[in-house]
Amino acid sequence: MLFRILTKDHFAVLVETIMETTEVVAPKRIGTRSDDSAIHHFLPVESAAEIDLAYETTETSAKTYFLPFRETLSSFCFSDEDWEQELRYRIQPRAIIGLHACDINALIKLDKVFERDRFPSPYYTSRRRNTFVVGIDHEPCSGGFCQSLGTDTVTQGFDLFLTDLGDRYFVAVGSDRGFSAVQAAGATEITDHDTAAYLTERKRIASLFETEVAVHNLPNLLDIEFESEIWQEWGAKCLGCGSCAMVCPTCYCYGVTERVSMDFSTATRQKQLYACTVVDFAEVAGGHNFRADRSTRLKYRFYHQHRGFVEAYDEPKCVGCNRCGRTCLPGINPVDVIRNLQAVEDA
Ligand code: SF4
Ligand code: SF4
Repeated sequence: MLFRILTKDHFAVLVETIMETTEVVAPKRIGTRSDDSAIHHFLPVESAAEIDLAYETTETSAKTYFLPFRETLSSFCFSDEDWEQELRYRIQPRAIIGLHACDINALIKLDKVFERDRFPSPYYTSRRRNTFVVGIDHEPCSGGFCQSLGTDTVTQGFDLFLTDLGDRYFVAVGSDRGFSAVQAAGATEITDHDTAAYLTERKRIASLFETEVAVHNLPNLLDIEFESEIWQEWGAKCLGCGSCAMVCPTCYCYGVTERVSMDFSTATRQKQLYACTVVDFAEVAGGHNFRADRSTRLKYRFYHQHRGFVEAYDEPKCVGCNRCGRTCLPGINPVDVIRNLQAVEDA
């Protein structure tokens, strides 16, 4: 990994230069809660002044810029005995500035599913490859447990990753295009003083985590507690709203719908993200529902995050951002559920 120093002024130059040719998405403050805390979303911005890199977290993840909620996979045109299919991938470049380490780790997990597995998705790949990713270090967000999952730091999956050293950024360079961008913006070589300041800042950030949860034996524990009463208890609270999966940076389940026009001349095939906690998620033709009750659906969400994905990719799917815990109206928080499981086992 190469490291460089960018002054704050040079970073502003870098952002303005990217904006000249590329759509830029970044954390933007959009309002304030009743307790005066700020609400941020990843949104398109038109000037560096709109970007708030000091944000704690965003309500939803930046997943939507790689896996949109709804997208047309293909359109069909029928004429006489013939038909044509049109496929469109996004190829316009985009930059996402200000992703935290957990969200970049989430992208790395999505890469494994949509770029490197048996059936790569050209839709995902075209967006991912054409997105310039600039990450930034940050103090832990409230309730975040990314450190327990090893996703509070990141060494790949980005073009540039910034650590704020007060008057300058310590920049990890993760790609050729990242290197070209920082060099053009006026980056300088790091000194021993910069390295020492970076290591001190990393230690300070690491020491601030308050939420810790043991996950090393979780897949086995989940297998052992498959029939546990706790799924009924948590399931009884669940509203089946699907918000947890919508805000999650790694939930990617989807459905595909084909629609044909009334005169049979055109058709579309659309993909729409879905949530495994929604009532008809496992309903099949004929009306049978394999997961009719909420507790089973909630249980399977946890199993996919912490067991199924481990089996497939050797790591949990969850990155510990706690967006699901924050958004859940009845207060179903992943840390509480995991600790509850562990308490059952310890009893
Ligand atoms: S766990 Fe919470 S957010 Fe998720 S479906 Fe149930 S009620 Fe909705
Ligand atoms: S399951 Fe919850 S804590 Fe884990 S990555 Fe998804 S939203 Fe974040």
